Amino acid sequence: MPAIPVKPHNKYSWSEITRAIPPKRPASERVGDFREIYSEFDEATARAQAARCIECPNPLCMTGCPLANRIPEWMALTAQGLFLEAAALSRSTSNMPEICSRVCPQEKLCEGACILNARTDPVAIGAVERFINEYAFHHGGVEVVQAPATGKKVAIIGSGPGGLACADELAKLGHGVTVFEAQPIPGGLLVNGIPAFKLEKHIVERRIDLLARHGVEFRLGVRVGWDISLAGLRDKYDAIFLGIGAQKPKPLDLTGAELDGIAEALPFLTQKNVDSPLVGGEPIDVKGRRVAVLGGGDTAMDCLRTALRSGAREAVCLYRRDLANMPGSRKEYANALEEGAQFQFLTNPVALIGDATGRVAAVRCVRMELGAPDASGRRSPKAVAGSDFDVPAELVLVAYGFDPAPFPAESDLSQVATDKWGGFRIDGNQMTSLPGVFAGGDSVRGPSLVVHAVRDARKAALGMHLYLSGRAVHAPFPRAGLRPETGAKA
Ligand code: SF4
Repeated sequence: MPAIPVKPHNKYSWSEITRAIPPKRPASERVGDFREIYSEFDEATARAQAARCIECPNPLCMTGCPLANRIPEWMALTAQGLFLEAAALSRSTSNMPEICSRVCPQEKLCEGACILNARTDPVAIGAVERFINEYAFHHGGVEVVQAPATGKKVAIIGSGPGGLACADELAKLGHGVTVFEAQPIPGGLLVNGIPAFKLEKHIVERRIDLLARHGVEFRLGVRVGWDISLAGLRDKYDAIFLGIGAQKPKPLDLTGAELDGIAEALPFLTQKNVDSPLVGGEPIDVKGRRVAVLGGGDTAMDCLRTALRSGAREAVCLYRRDLANMPGSRKEYANALEEGAQFQFLTNPVALIGDATGRVAAVRCVRMELGAPDASGRRSPKAVAGSDFDVPAELVLVAYGFDPAPFPAESDLSQVATDKWGGFRIDGNQMTSLPGVFAGGDSVRGPSLVVHAVRDARKAALGMHLYLSGRAVHAPFPRAGLRPETGAKA
């Protein structure tokens, strides 16, 4: 875009300057690699875009942001060129703003709530947040002042967004933090679930390195509940946070589910994104194949785009509702379309058809029509009688979402009370049925956004801090697990 002249103060209005998006690589180039597709605003553009914020007295963007980020304040600072101050303010409510700004579906959160939507395009909140925080990393502006050591030790189980955010908060409060991760590399879903074209791995590594510099210890390749017991950790640590995610795929209840050539989304994404033979399982080869992806969330979008980057001949999404009722982010849908993904809406898979060798050859589908809205507000799909048709597919990726994994009796994690969905039950401080054991993120609420895991983790860290200082009592009957804002993974 043409250079935007910088004014000394926050004097632009939304009618003078249109919304910009950060530079995006052309689709023909980006399908050839896994690098991020967006880059940062330059300083002048960041200032001008921030100056579009009208600093309304009742900022709806803060309500739309699950972290209640102080958006108008850091927009005003950015507009004045005070980037380090803006970034510090954004870090005061978020433990990984450089990551949330990349993976949040802003159109459903902060930007969706921006009051400018009533007249024009919203402020580019995510892109400005990314700019100021990258600026801070590149200008030595991310170090924090830590409280004096308290002598308390906490264990964090899982190094995904919830685990990292909880570790960050507790380390800042002066507690000794050890993170246990089952995989050989830290980062959880940020590394093995979110494709690098949305979030490059070095961005997550940089955040983990920062935590390590602040004294957080990482123990990798350790499965709590199996290699070491939860009871053993409770003896050694003063409090524990369970941020173990929800990675058990929802069951594929279709005839033909046993055919060759059918794979779950998460192992596929992990294999194509993580450069480690220790992670990923049986190889899933899409090269030269026509790939059908079942589901309409962001994981489905990630599968389509990853399949195309991995050499798939075609990648087609089969989704039972229409575009307006699809849970996936519109931004990611548009990016997938640009990259050559195909979408068949109002198409419900009902069976998988095999060839003579026992390999999948097609997905049998029925046409759907939309009825009245259900409890979630989305219109319920209904099958059109006699509308069966086959969609040819040489590989099927199942992206129907995840549930928290149930714990077998031999793991003492099974002693933590769960709700009917398998999520940990928690009290108002995020404490589970076991005193001193807290939980948050997908392992409580089911699959949801990175930013929701960060919010839960911040709340749990506060609860743990109160517990460690004797100010939080254990509620003997935790209320049922919260399921307020589930949705597609970021
Ligand atoms: Fe928007 Fe997410 Fe940043 Fe909040 S954390 S301001 S929702 S991009």
